[in-house]
Amino acid sequence: MPDVLVIGSGGAGLAAALAANDAGATVMLATKLGVASCNTAKAQGGIQAAVGDDDSIETHFADVMRSSHNTADPTLAQRLVEEGPTTVRWLEELGVAFTREGDGSLRIARCGGATRKRLLQVGDRTGLAIAGALRDAVTAREGITLLDHAPLIALTTDGTALLERGGEQLEIRPGALILAAGGRCKREAQETGELSTNGDGATGEVAALAVAIGCVERDHDSLQRHPTGAAWPESLAGYAVPETTRAYGALLRNAAGAQFVDELAPRDVVAEAIIRECAEGRGVTTPTGRPAVYLDCRPVDPTDAEISFPYMLRRYRKAGLDPLTELIPVYPVLHYQNGGLVIDEDGATTVPGIWAAGEITGGVHGRNRMMGNSLLEICVFGRRAGAAAAAAVR
Ligand SMILES: Cc1cc2nc3c(=O)[nH]c(=O)nc-3n(C[C@H](O)[C@H](O)[C@H](O)COP(=O)(O)OP(=O)(O)OC[C@H]3O[C@@H](n4cnc5c(N)ncnc54)[C@H](O)[C@@H]3O)c2cc1C
Repeated sequence: MPDVLVIGSGGAGLAAALAANDAGATVMLATKLGVASCNTAKAQGGIQAAVGDDDSIETHFADVMRSSHNTADPTLAQRLVEEGPTTVRWLEELGVAFTREGDGSLRIARCGGATRKRLLQVGDRTGLAIAGALRDAVTAREGITLLDHAPLIALTTDGTALLERGGEQLEIRPGALILAAGGRCKREAQETGELSTNGDGATGEVAALAVAIGCVERDHDSLQRHPTGAAWPESLAGYAVPETTRAYGALLRNAAGAQFVDELAPRDVVAEAIIRECAEGRGVTTPTGRPAVYLDCRPVDPTDAEISFPYMLRRYRKAGLDPLTELIPVYPVLHYQNGGLVIDEDGATTVPGIWAAGEITGGVHGRNRMMGNSLLEICVFGRRAGAAAAAAVR
């Protein structure tokens, strides 16, 4: 049996597996679909860390607390922000090539709710780069066994896990268990008929299993909508138009062409403003009948656009719409579960022997996450949970 069993192959699970193995534990990482399938790989805009000359850990912390409307757990938020700069260095050592300016400095943008430029990017495929680097590091480790297409289907209070693989059931009794199975917005969207940015694995059953054996949860009802989900063309419906568009100057306009919200306000503020604008008759309707407002990327410097959201440009142009010359219809879409399992600063849940990290947990962002802080969270708390679980086993 492994010292540590990790559930989920997103960034949180991969980071936890690496840290547990670094601390001398043997690790089994089991995941529901293919190893590369996760929301982490879909993340585009970037990762926050206080690396700018005018920035500080204190400012990042204040931005997190204010954007969460003071609902974030201050201890967790503090850990998140203070490990930002070292996390960036760790990711670079693993091979993540963050976009740099001509003078060699890291390219950083100001994202919604932030008072400083703090968002590091790898073009607009930041999550793909981070997930790929973490996966390469994990697959190179002899002490980590990967089990794909092996969903967790049952859990007992002593941390015994039942996995299903190839029609067989595997009972695993690890020394410690780390739950890193992500959020549930794909399932929520299926149930409500809304659009979602999430991948197929984001169905939330692992959190439900954990709650059933006594793990305390918080903010279960708090789901985040990405303000600018694509509403048209239909082939892109639900695609998250990166927030970096607004960071580099894109504006939101109603049917009359008027701006109606600070484009870099916290996410919930922007999403609510768009929904209100449409509900009160100032939005537009797409050819397929969806409500929408316009994202106007024409003010963005084309060079910034090519550097910071080339993938988005390619997708839209392929679908027949050029974001740098035409208006894009957008509307909020289900994106992220703010709430989740209660953890301490080392990822311990309220059930002894079970740790958790990433989107499956609650508290780091309170009831409103800032963009870019989830990619940071999965690294910071994945690693903390991995190290703590391994230490508990030894
Ligand atoms: C389109 C999109 C864009 C985003 N952009 C950004 C961004 O720019 N910056 C940012 O900070 N955040 C962004 N986010 C949010 C961020 O990517 C995620 O919140 C974060 O990556 C979640 O990581 P995770 O490891 O917790 O979960 P995931 O990466 O979702 O991984 C969860 C893993 O658990 C597996 N799993 C699920 N159920 C089971 C089960 N029963 N048994 C075993 N395994 C299971 C899944 O298959 C998956 O491998 C974005 C999200 C999306 C969807």
